[in-house]
Amino acid sequence: MTATLSHFIDGTRCDGTSGRFGDVYDPATGAVAARVPLASAAETGSAVAAAAAAFPAWRDTPPLKRAAVLFRFKELLDAHSDEIAGLIAAEHGKVLDDARGSLTRGIEVVEFACGAPHLLKGTFSENVGSGVDSHSVRQPLGVCVGITPFNFPAMVPMWMFPMAIACGNTFVLKTSERVPSTALRLAELFVEAGLPPGVLNVVNGDKEAVDALLTHPDVAAISFVGSTAVAEYVYRTGTHHGKRVQALGGAKNHMVVMPDADLDQAADALMGAAYGSAGERCMAISVAVAVGDDTADALIARLAPRVAALRVGPADDPTSEMGPLVTRAHWERVKGYVDAGVDEGAELVVDGRGVAVPGHPDGFYLGGCLFDRVTADMRIYREEIFGPVLVVVRVPDFDSALALVNAHEYGNGTAIFTRDGDTARTYASRVQVGMVGVNVPIPVPMAFHSFGGWKRSLFGDVHMHGMEGVHFYTKLKTITSRWPTGIRAGADFHMPTMK
Ligand code: NAD
Repeated sequence: MTATLSHFIDGTRCDGTSGRFGDVYDPATGAVAARVPLASAAETGSAVAAAAAAFPAWRDTPPLKRAAVLFRFKELLDAHSDEIAGLIAAEHGKVLDDARGSLTRGIEVVEFACGAPHLLKGTFSENVGSGVDSHSVRQPLGVCVGITPFNFPAMVPMWMFPMAIACGNTFVLKTSERVPSTALRLAELFVEAGLPPGVLNVVNGDKEAVDALLTHPDVAAISFVGSTAVAEYVYRTGTHHGKRVQALGGAKNHMVVMPDADLDQAADALMGAAYGSAGERCMAISVAVAVGDDTADALIARLAPRVAALRVGPADDPTSEMGPLVTRAHWERVKGYVDAGVDEGAELVVDGRGVAVPGHPDGFYLGGCLFDRVTADMRIYREEIFGPVLVVVRVPDFDSALALVNAHEYGNGTAIFTRDGDTARTYASRVQVGMVGVNVPIPVPMAFHSFGGWKRSLFGDVHMHGMEGVHFYTKLKTITSRWPTGIRAGADFHMPTMK
C-alpha cells in the first residue's frame, strides 16, 4: 500500500485533514512512492498559530541558548547524513554523492547560524550628546515563512529556517509537494536537538497553502525560492499584504569561454555544471558562450563524446553520473524544449531523448543533450529549461558576449573562463548578474557570504544567508537614552540636535 505522509506542526507529525493529496514519485522507476497531504487554509493557519504561540518564549531565549540547540542540530544532521541524502535522492532522483554535497551546503548554514550571539551583537555610541548614549539592536520579526522548490529538498530550506530561528523568529516551512519527506525529517531532528515545539513547523501543500501564508495576518516575512512566475506572484502578493519578502526565481546561467581559456578545464567545468543533478540546479550552466568559431569548434569537439557517454541511471547506483528528472510532467517539459530547439533550427549535436536505462523502462530518464549554433531569439536560449540540455551560442568577441549576457532577463549566476586577468576583471565588474565565477563554473557563495541573483532572478532587496540573512530576519531598533534622569534639558521645540 502507498504510504501517506503528514505535516509537522507544534512538534509532532500530524495527518492531513483537507482530503486532498498529491502523488510523490520514485523518479527512478516512475512508480508512485507516497501520497502527500495538501493542506487547506485552515490547516496552514494552525501551523501559523503554533509558530505565533511559540514566538514570545523563543524570542526571549538568549541567543547563546538558541545557538546551543543549533549546535546539537548540526551534530544530528552529521549523524543522519546518509539517511537524509537517501531521502533527497529517493524523491528528487539526483545521485547520492550529489545529494550528500547539497546537504553539506545546508549544514554549513547551520554552522554559520550557530554564531547567533556574535551575529546579533548590537552597536553602542557613548555620549552622542551630554549624558546621552545611543545603541542599536536587531530584533526578530515574528513568524517567518519559507516556500521552497523541488530541486534542493534540504539545502534551500536550510538557507532559511536555521538563520530565521537563530535570530529568534519562529518558522513555517511550505516545502515542495514533489519532495516532502526530507523537510519532515529535518524538523523532527531539530526538535530532537531541543528546539521547543512550534518554533519550526512544516506544512505540505500547493497553491492553497501558499496563498494562506501570503495573506495571513500573523505572518511577518516570507522567503521564497522557485520559478520566476511564482516568485513574482509571491513577492507582489506578500508585499501587498504588508510582509517583508525575498523571492528568488529562475535562471539561465551563461559561461563565457574566451579563446585564451584552458579548453580542457572549461570542458570539464561545463560537463559538471550543465549535466550535474540532470541540470535541475538554479546555478547550472545552461548556455556556453563561445568567443570565436575556433573556440566553439574546439569546445564542441571536447564536449560531444563526453555528453554522449554520460552514465545515466538510478540515484543509488554508484556508477550513475546523472539520475532521472523529478516527474514525468517535468520530463515531458524538458523533452518538449529539445523538440522545439530542433524545430527552431538549432543543431542538435547530442540527442539524449532516446536514452534507455536497463531495468528501469518507466523511469524519468533523459540523456544529456547538446545544441550548437543557438541564437538569442530561440526559445531554448530565452527560457529556463531546467534539465540536462546545454546550448552553445557563438559570438565574435568579448563585448558581444558581455552584451548577450546582460540582455538576458535572468541574472542569477555566470562564469567566465580565461587566462587573462584584465578580461576577467572587466567581466566581473560589468556583468549584470548576482553571482560571478572566474574559472569557477558554479559560484555558489559559502554560508558566510550571501546567495542571490539580479534582474528577474530575485524579487526584493536582500539575498539569503550570511549577513544579508541576519538582516532579512531582524529589524533594527535604535535606542537613545539620557542618564542620569535628573538632568533637565528644558523644553525644546526645534529639531533635536546635540548642540
Ligand atoms: P515552482 O515555482 O513550481 O515551485 C516552488 C514553490 O512554489 C513550491 O513550494 C510550490 O508548491 C509553490 N507553487 C508552485 N506553483 C504555485 C502557484 N501557482 N502559486 C503559489 N505557489 C506555487 O518551482 P519548482 O519547479 O519547484 O523549482 C524549480 C524552479 O526553482 C526553477 O525555476 C529554478 O530556477 C528555481 N530555483 C531557483 C533558485 C534560486 O536560488 N534562484 C534555487 C533553486 C531553484
